[in-house]
Amino acid sequence: RPVLNPLVLSLKESATLAINLRAKELRKQGKDIVHFGFGQSPFPVPEVIQKALAENTDKKDYLPTQGLPELCEAVAGFYNKEFGYNFLSSNVCVGPGSKELIFEIIYLVEGPLLVPVPSWVSYGPQAALRGKEIITIPTNREYNYRLTPEALDKACYEAGQKQKLLIFNNPNNPTGALYHEKEIKELAEICKAYQVIVISDEIYAMLEYDKWAMSSLALHYPEGTIVSGGLSKSFAAGGYRLGVALIPDSLELVMNSLKAVISETFSAVSAPIQHAALAAYGDFENVRPFVQKTRDIYRHVMHYLHDEFTDMGLNCPRPAGAFYAFPDFDKFRSQLAKKNVITAASLSHALLEEVGVAVLPGSDFYLPATNLGVRVAGVDFDGQQALDTWPGRHHVT
Ligand code: PLP
Repeated sequence: RPVLNPLVLSLKESATLAINLRAKELRKQGKDIVHFGFGQSPFPVPEVIQKALAENTDKKDYLPTQGLPELCEAVAGFYNKEFGYNFLSSNVCVGPGSKELIFEIIYLVEGPLLVPVPSWVSYGPQAALRGKEIITIPTNREYNYRLTPEALDKACYEAGQKQKLLIFNNPNNPTGALYHEKEIKELAEICKAYQVIVISDEIYAMLEYDKWAMSSLALHYPEGTIVSGGLSKSFAAGGYRLGVALIPDSLELVMNSLKAVISETFSAVSAPIQHAALAAYGDFENVRPFVQKTRDIYRHVMHYLHDEFTDMGLNCPRPAGAFYAFPDFDKFRSQLAKKNVITAASLSHALLEEVGVAVLPGSDFYLPATNLGVRVAGVDFDGQQALDTWPGRHHVT
């Protein structure tokens, strides 16, 4: 028997992947499964991006660790124009998905990781792989699971003098929440006061439903905030594996260390993929109509789901971005208990095996096991068909 790193042994396969596998298996067996478990865009990759990829298959040279220089330039320009940031191309680093870049930043920055609850499944295991202390910050169902300045302040205070890293995801997976400017400003003040280093996970940026402009800690606390994004969600190209991190000059040491880690690990992202990404970021006007249309479709689907859940008596914050909803089965606790369903994990299991609906339990997002919230990824529809027929009369089944 090989002896393995104990930090690795503490990990189990990501819950998202496990549910995805089980749902696929059930479908293979001929079962009718509604797959709300996996957060993947149902839309095809925009044609201009596919075309750029096809035209660049001859690009074979290793690229600089930080990324193709034209792409770094384009990414900085895109973020500055669309979000009002102030980044230079030297602030941009390209990686194989934002997940990997987030992991490497967690890896190289010392101090505990502050994780508002609920948060995306992978942050905790990534920190655990590094042996890092994870400090979860509670939120309230009554406040739609949003991080409050008071809770952040308390967590920072209790963490003591040591340097802290906060991961903050907006728009939010798993709740679909979008933070308002005022909330962001207040959170930024706390971050500033405690000199917290922030990873602002903005992978769902541009999927805000009502107003195509989101606020960010990077606007109100730019010196301490790293922005994380990529092609996976709004550009519908998760499988291309291209993420970006925008690291301000004030955190130059982080950038230098990141480049060093990259140079000793994955070296650089595949050259054809970086050229494809250049078409997305460099000529965003060509992609904008696609992103706007898909955003409108997500809004329609998610608001429909939200209204259905609410009618069923489930408490569910109204999603305002991304493609997730977080209904809570608390109202049915006693009926569920009679069927021996007392945790979100057993609820998700029952929903998949007995009803044919795949969702993820809130406990995978760090909520207590008996909180009966589940994450619904409203992406089980034919994206191409939706694009072809939108806008029009739509019936969601
Ligand atoms: N952050 C959040 C909140 C996510 O939901 C995901 C993907 O599901 C990622 C980051 C990772 O995205 P990628 O590695 O595809 O860029």
